[in-house]
Amino acid sequence: MSLHDIITRMAKAEKDADRDAGSVKLIAVSKVQPNERVQAVLDEGHRCFGENRVQEAEGKWPNFKQSFDGVELHLIGPLQSNKARTAMELFDVIHTLDRPKLATTFSRLAQEIGQCPDMFIQVNTGEEDQKAGVTPAKADAFIKECQGLDLPVRGLMCIPPVDEEAALHFALLAKIAARNGLDGLSMGMSSDFEKAIALGATHIRVGSAIFGERVAG
Ligand SMILES: *Cc1c(COP(=O)(O)O)cnc(C)c1O
Repeated sequence: MSLHDIITRMAKAEKDADRDAGSVKLIAVSKVQPNERVQAVLDEGHRCFGENRVQEAEGKWPNFKQSFDGVELHLIGPLQSNKARTAMELFDVIHTLDRPKLATTFSRLAQEIGQCPDMFIQVNTGEEDQKAGVTPAKADAFIKECQGLDLPVRGLMCIPPVDEEAALHFALLAKIAARNGLDGLSMGMSSDFEKAIALGATHIRVGSAIFGERVAG
């Protein structure tokens, strides 16, 4: 697989779902990938990337941002409140807003800094203990709470359980977003992004299918 293949498959999935060409944004997930591979994808002209750890992103992206204009960085991994400020300064979009403490921290920092990244609320659609995210039952109230804090909530994000049909989780996420009037849906990874596009994804997060297997480290 390569960036080009994924873009071709995305276009086909958009067409098959009767969606406008270019209506889905590809976040190239560069976590743990060697810099040469990231550089190669930048050289091909791609500018939208996802990282799951603040510290790793801090080490890698300031340099790339100096060399390449228009980089857009998405945080897709869990965030500790004590890293919230760094995350807000480094990332353009945060996909993992998932609890009241983080929401109030973002709200306070947004006042201080005078700007705030766009946000997605992570929903733990599979209600898995080991996974972050607000439960589906608490999602409506949490969305309202975040909006009440003036956070720019653009949509919802989920990571389906590995051993379940992803489409069920994508459909559930789309339903929760629709009833709350949210347009953004961050869902779909290397193995299931076409399904996610069929069910309304606006942002897909694809790592290994673009960069190759992640090097263990
Ligand atoms: C790593 C990761 C991805 C990308 O996974 P691939 O299977 O490599 O496409 C997507 N979303 C999140 C939250 C991730 O942590």
